[in-house]
Amino acid sequence: MNTQADNEALQPRNRQRRLASAAGTHACAPLRALERAMTCALCLRPEELQRSHVIPEFMFRALYDDKHRFHVISTDEAERNKYQQKGPREPLLCVACEQQFSRYERYASLALSGGIDLGYQFDGPAVVLSELEYKPFRLFQLSVLWRASVSRHEFFKDVSLGPHEESIRRALFDEDPGPSAKYGCVMCAIVHEGAIQQDVVLQPERVRFSGLKGYRFVFGGLVWVYVVSSHRSTAGIERGFLQEDGRAIVLMKQLGDFGDLIQMGGTLQAQDKLGEVRSNSSSSGREEA
Ligand SMILES: [Zn+2]
Repeated sequence: MNTQADNEALQPRNRQRRLASAAGTHACAPLRALERAMTCALCLRPEELQRSHVIPEFMFRALYDDKHRFHVISTDEAERNKYQQKGPREPLLCVACEQQFSRYERYASLALSGGIDLGYQFDGPAVVLSELEYKPFRLFQLSVLWRASVSRHEFFKDVSLGPHEESIRRALFDEDPGPSAKYGCVMCAIVHEGAIQQDVVLQPERVRFSGLKGYRFVFGGLVWVYVVSSHRSTAGIERGFLQEDGRAIVLMKQLGDFGDLIQMGGTLQAQDKLGEVRSNSSSSGREEA
């Protein structure tokens, strides 16, 4: 029996399980860190982890220059406009969970790029989309928010969902999109000089509006404002969330209309950063620290 146990211990996966289980039973920080490093953040199984993206790679496509780098705009002066090879990635998910998220990303990518026929109707400064598939698009939205919270990458340091993190993990693990009003996301398209600015990625930030708390992400030509609160949003805000019947309102906003984004946009433009990002033309290989 001992021999069998020893043999099992030699299998890498079993060794991982034993270490992970040992780490779970001791209040020892290094072991907990080790356990976390070997456990899939979604299914919580000890598995070999993939180098996962938080913001899907397809969202960075417009940003790639001819050397397959892209531009990231950080709100942190010191981190601003670093060139990186493939976007912030880190070991987070096992193969199966990575594939699960890829399915949502594929759907969102097609929906946002015109690869799927959606209904759309202009309504003042908004476009009302219809015929979106609620489940994959909603799980896509939740998966980005949740990944940013579990990420240890510096870029996502402002996203920390507290008790909501486990609640959203459960929803993602169960593939249960839940009701539209819970952890809803308002989407605004960033319009500048008549075109949607697909090539800006801003560091996610905590925001407060209308008495609610949330997080603002900017990627893929959209500002995504997630409401993360135990309280219900107002009906007006909830109308802006993706609805269970597949409708979603996308506000078309000029870059200058984005409140604190005005300042950021202004600052970045003054520094000629935005132009640099927009043009995708820089071929400098240096890192700007
Ligand atoms: Zn997993």
